[in-house]
Amino acid sequence: MTRIDLHSHSSVSDGTDTPADVIGHAVAAGLDVLALTDHDTVGGIGEAAEHLPPGFTLVPGMELSCAYAGSSVHLVSYLFDPEHPVLAAELRRIRSDRASRAEEMVALLREHGVDVSMERVLRIAGAGRDEYADANTIGRPHLARAIVEAGAARDVQDAFDRWIGSGGPAHVARYALDPVRAVELVRAAGGVCSLAHPARAEGALTGSVPVELAERMAAAGLGGIEADHPSHNRAQTKEWRGVAADLGVVVTGSSDDHGTLTGRRLGCRTTDPEAFERLVAPATGASLVSG
Ligand code: AMP
Ligand code: MN
Ligand code: MN
Ligand code: MN
Repeated sequence: MTRIDLHSHSSVSDGTDTPADVIGHAVAAGLDVLALTDHDTVGGIGEAAEHLPPGFTLVPGMELSCAYAGSSVHLVSYLFDPEHPVLAAELRRIRSDRASRAEEMVALLREHGVDVSMERVLRIAGAGRDEYADANTIGRPHLARAIVEAGAARDVQDAFDRWIGSGGPAHVARYALDPVRAVELVRAAGGVCSLAHPARAEGALTGSVPVELAERMAAAGLGGIEADHPSHNRAQTKEWRGVAADLGVVVTGSSDDHGTLTGRRLGCRTTDPEAFERLVAPATGASLVSG
């Protein structure tokens, strides 16, 4: 049975393992197919592609940050053309806004007496490392690690709870796409996409993506819903499997591994091979990479 995991992060965004090491862990976890889906960047795909053993397949991908009604909605996107001019411009804007937003959050933390610096956050993020230049994304997990180092939180989770989670004293929102427009953009760039962890849309609303939004995303060309995600309980998985069936899109299952940040868990959820074939069939923007 082919084992397929369609959502993972490397140190190019907020994961802790290099792209090469993510592939190594995926092989060790018995996976045959892995999508590397760093936040708002494809900066790690080249390195990952150079480390594939024979018979292993890499799905070039990305997790795109979107916002809806004060909540964060994520879209795991695959096999698009990263050079598509509109998409590429949006990704540059998102990454640059992430950097200025991190500066604002550092300033707020300092006002609250937390001794963090932007220099340290950039170093933790690996941003500015020559090989990735501006392709790295800076995210709150990097800030959280700086907060822990400064002694103002016990661990990353505590840093989110005290300081930088939605509604926290040092939380700053970031630029993000409308989810329907994001689906249209990924499709225009020849890609396909799945609605990431729909029961975990951090923010103002209930914590779940409204079904009416999922409907409009499906009408715009959404191909899947990530009903199987480690943050979903049984009821949520069942509910979103039902929504996927109602909307005629496939169910995807993925680990959303972030290395030691989440605890290594590649392959803890997987996608059915038939669902995978159906999801990627319309893609024209890039190709699967085989080792
Ligand atoms: P950002 O993209 O900068 O807004 O940060 C969001 C990322 O932070 C997510 O992709 C997760 O990796 C991580 N995250 C979000 N909420 C939490 C939380 N409560 N505890 C730990 N990590 C979190
Ligand atoms: Mn993340
Ligand atoms: Mn996400
Ligand atoms: Mn993710």
